[in-house]
Amino acid sequence: MRVEKDLLAKNDRHAAANRKWLADREVTMVNLMASPGAGKTSLLVQTLEDLQAEMPFAVIEGDQQTSLDAHRIRACGVPAVQINTGRGCHLDAHQVGHALADLDPAPGSVVWVENVGNLVCPAGFDLGEHARVVLLSVTEGDDKPLKYPHMFHSADLVVLTKTDLLPYVDFDVDRCIDHARRLRPGVPVLQVSVKSGEGMAQWYGWLRAQRPVPAAEVG
Ligand code: MG
Ligand code: ZN
Repeated sequence: MRVEKDLLAKNDRHAAANRKWLADREVTMVNLMASPGAGKTSLLVQTLEDLQAEMPFAVIEGDQQTSLDAHRIRACGVPAVQINTGRGCHLDAHQVGHALADLDPAPGSVVWVENVGNLVCPAGFDLGEHARVVLLSVTEGDDKPLKYPHMFHSADLVVLTKTDLLPYVDFDVDRCIDHARRLRPGVPVLQVSVKSGEGMAQWYGWLRAQRPVPAAEVG
């Protein structure tokens, strides 16, 4: 318990440093968290393709092994740093601080962190991000918020993904939203399908609202 407390205190110091680093550059950082296979990279790739003419992006990819996801991001023409955590099952603020320095994002950028696929410990590690987005695909159980309460309690936005598959699965959207809001009252929930395009406009609207828009850019 003691060791865990020290570890988290150290992480919080790095997270605070990241927050200041980002604020100094007016860079917005969004932490994407989900189980493996929820569709984080697919949503990200579609978002980069649709919005990179509108705002600069950079991506920090977390996986235990491989650079496969960073390759998918770079194929869109967006800079990406891959962090391989090996046996580790989450990204910490120290790793993300180094990745930010490597990426050196332009002022006004949005930096995405695609965290390691895991609904457990990423919830406990503040990275200095502006927003925490938890993705949950409709091929998972609608009771997942109840099983992973810390993750959903920390969410600033919940995105239900792969909604084009709803006709084929037993997933009760209303019940899932109800569970999520019991853990994080009032949390916004979007229903999105990269395949059909459902909800993408709302997702982009949410993203635009996260950025500090300089007056010169308005209109
Ligand atoms: Mg991925
Ligand atoms: Zn972990």
